[in-house]
Amino acid sequence: MIYLDYAATAPMPRAAADAMYAVLTEQYGNPSAQYPFGLEMKKRLEGWRGIVAAAMGCPPERLYFTSCGTEGDNWAIRAALWQNRHAGRHIVTTAVEHSAVLECCKWLEKDGYEVTRLLPDGQGNITAGQVLEAVRPDTALVSVMLVNNELGTIFPVGEIAEGLPAKNPKTLLHTDAVQGFLTFSARDLGADLISVSAHKIGGPKGIGALYIGPRVRNPRPLLPGGGQEGGVRAGTEATAQIAGFAKAAELRMDSRLEDQRHLCELKAYAIEKLSAIPDLHFVGNGAAPHILSVSLAGWPSQNIVNDLGSQGICVSAGSACHQGKPSHVIAALKLPKRTASGVIRLSFGPAVTKADIDACADAIRKHHDSRCPMLL
Ligand code: PLP
Repeated sequence: MIYLDYAATAPMPRAAADAMYAVLTEQYGNPSAQYPFGLEMKKRLEGWRGIVAAAMGCPPERLYFTSCGTEGDNWAIRAALWQNRHAGRHIVTTAVEHSAVLECCKWLEKDGYEVTRLLPDGQGNITAGQVLEAVRPDTALVSVMLVNNELGTIFPVGEIAEGLPAKNPKTLLHTDAVQGFLTFSARDLGADLISVSAHKIGGPKGIGALYIGPRVRNPRPLLPGGGQEGGVRAGTEATAQIAGFAKAAELRMDSRLEDQRHLCELKAYAIEKLSAIPDLHFVGNGAAPHILSVSLAGWPSQNIVNDLGSQGICVSAGSACHQGKPSHVIAALKLPKRTASGVIRLSFGPAVTKADIDACADAIRKHHDSRCPMLL
């Protein structure tokens, strides 16, 4: 199999799976238990928190484990709105956020919040000026992702954080950094709330983390209950997932620079190889090295994904979370219909090789040459 869908999920290294296995079978104590077996697990848990916090560039006491990136996004938004409940009911976000943010905002509209969704330009860019201009005296929250999951565009979150206090000192800033994990430090980025997910970096599915910065005072509990996670996200800690998350983060931190170099090289190579395919267009100007969106204009993306899939090559038709539906991100680019309907996303990870790219490019080329395009 040739796996080119790392933005959907990444394989777990053996060492991370082993760390989980040890917790499931031997170190299974409840971190809240008061005997040594439980106290030992509590110590381990705080060690793992320290590792993930170091990977996010934040103090451990500001990092809370969640069940996934989606949960982190929802919690961040609700926590910011709760803090600013007397300051306003306006939210600024973008039309190309992950559904975890957009669907949450839709529900908030039903509760009387007003949502401004900023449109990107034809390349998928959003500027800091655009975001800051949309901020009003009643803006409680700005939520702008760090890296777009379909285009790989990098949004200027740091610049937004710098400019926000002058526009409205109360407005809190959340960033969904699920696709940008390991490329930023919370200290430097300046966002108040940052959500990440383990399974995009080789950790297990079903675990994520939320950074909650000092401007979010007394964050509203996501799950009130037994007092875990400082009383704001109760529920017995998912110790095995957390162990796997920490091990994956540790491994990827160790190889971070090398991985970045490899991904940049792979992307440049993929661009060169794919450029030779007739009717192929690059979609968006994503600078993230692990994501590349292209369109075979006139050839429907689902057919390409199925054809490649039948040859053991895994790529995605837009976001994996939108299978079967037209992607809201591609729609926001306002591309011609033939281009928009032919978009596929290739996304890379450390184990991908140039030979994998060659095989994928050959398969796309054969798909193009062996089928008639749509007439519309
Ligand atoms: N945000 C972005 C940008 C994503 O790419 C994803 C997953 O694809 C999520 C949020 C959701 O993360 P999770 O699958 O952990 O809920």
